[in-house]
Amino acid sequence: MEETKFCKFCGEKIPFDAVVCTKCGRQVENLGASGKENIVINNVANSAASAASSSTAKGGKGTKTVSKWASFALCLTLGWLGVHKFYEGKSGLGILYMFTMGLFAIGWFIDLFVILGKPDPYEV
Ligand SMILES: [Zn+2]
Repeated sequence: MEETKFCKFCGEKIPFDAVVCTKCGRQVENLGASGKENIVINNVANSAASAASSSTAKGGKGTKTVSKWASFALCLTLGWLGVHKFYEGKSGLGILYMFTMGLFAIGWFIDLFVILGKPDPYEV
């Protein structure tokens, strides 16, 4: 059942949600009444946009901090397998080390001193 109201100018029965009288054509409701709905829509759009931007920031450049001494211990004992590279999150280099015995032991040897020269913890 459709809700109705009366036009305040001509007294005609018009639909309850009518903004302009269907008979006399005069404005019977404030156009601002529909503004409430727009605000809600805007809020949803804004929160969705901010959620998307914050997740983008998270997925972007992120620095990882690792313990110097854990990395050094891994390099010293299993460095020829590139375990310290895996620990730093550089799995590509880790695999390379694994197949080349720590870049023919040269990379392994250099990494020991590189890690010793880093602060504790250090960023990778
Ligand atoms: Zn009217």
